[in-house]
Amino acid sequence: MALTTSEVRELLNKLPKTNLGFFPTPLYKLENLSAELGIELYIKRDDFTGSNLFGGNKTRKLEYLIGKAKADGCDHVFTYGAVQSNHAMQTVWAATKNGIKPVIYLAAIVPIDENDIKANLLLDRIYDAEIHIVEPLEGESFMETEDRSFEMAKEHIARLEAEGHKCMNIPVGGADETGSLGYIGGITELYEQADAMGIEFDYLYHATGSGGTMAGMMAGRNLLGRDTVIRSISAMEIGKSYAKHAASLSNGALALMGVDPIVDKEDFAPDDNYYAPGYEIPNDATTKAIKLLAKKEGILVDPVYSGKAFSALLDHVKTGKIEQGSKVVFVHTGGATVFFAEKEILGEVF
Ligand SMILES: *Cc1c(COP(=O)(O)O)cnc(C)c1O
Repeated sequence: MALTTSEVRELLNKLPKTNLGFFPTPLYKLENLSAELGIELYIKRDDFTGSNLFGGNKTRKLEYLIGKAKADGCDHVFTYGAVQSNHAMQTVWAATKNGIKPVIYLAAIVPIDENDIKANLLLDRIYDAEIHIVEPLEGESFMETEDRSFEMAKEHIARLEAEGHKCMNIPVGGADETGSLGYIGGITELYEQADAMGIEFDYLYHATGSGGTMAGMMAGRNLLGRDTVIRSISAMEIGKSYAKHAASLSNGALALMGVDPIVDKEDFAPDDNYYAPGYEIPNDATTKAIKLLAKKEGILVDPVYSGKAFSALLDHVKTGKIEQGSKVVFVHTGGATVFFAEKEILGEVF
């Protein structure tokens, strides 16, 4: 039995949460691009979640994660990512604002110039986060460096806990059951707005990474009994168990709300045809997509996540995977700081 949006909100409201963002974020039609593409294209501005100019999807997850850290009496939160991680930056201010010390372990993909600290790493420093940069060892892949950062943090947490501190360990991207609650709320908000506007979306496009956003949105969609096709465009190679893991996050988040499992791994359509040549490495189609959205609508999507997802949407219009006349919503997940990051990540945007 499908729930109403207010019934979903009631269930969410029973869980620990701290208010971090500005909600609802805007949902509106992109008139110029709709005319050009022959579809009805809308955008959900989750790049405007706050609290600084550089919001994004992690803020929704962090409302529940930091809410839980507070409820559990934690005085430290640990999290992880690449050096220019949007998630780490949002975790830093979300924790600090709530009187919790953020400790971040960042794996270096591109070399860091100590004399020219930029973008998210610069913001992390302004917020006085405790930052541990983990440089790759010779021949080590990014994943291996990241795994090593988890091990280092594990020892660090054990040391702090032996001294009587209480630490919360937030996984990469905030992708656990608690974090995924944020996008059950996020998609509920989107449907509330769409219902008020009298629109039923055929397709929802968004960028996926750790999978928490995708997991939350699918849980919410199924709980509300909607049939929007959600197309999750990956910013990196997808492992074999990606959809299975996401389904376990969806059902785990629902369990926290007291709801029985209703998400199957077959519900997900993660697509890793658009991230090449690699995570944080730009490609031409993405650069073109960024320029098109910038010039037609004045909106900036980043080259690492939302730009790659938007390039997929454009390709799907071209190939008919999105039929002419379809109602499509693009969820802008943030990432604007990349415009001020290293050139290797930004690419040839001008
Ligand atoms: C983290 C991130 C994503 C992916 O979200 P997940 O929940 O990790 O899948 C998409 N876009 C931006 C800008 C992000 O920072």
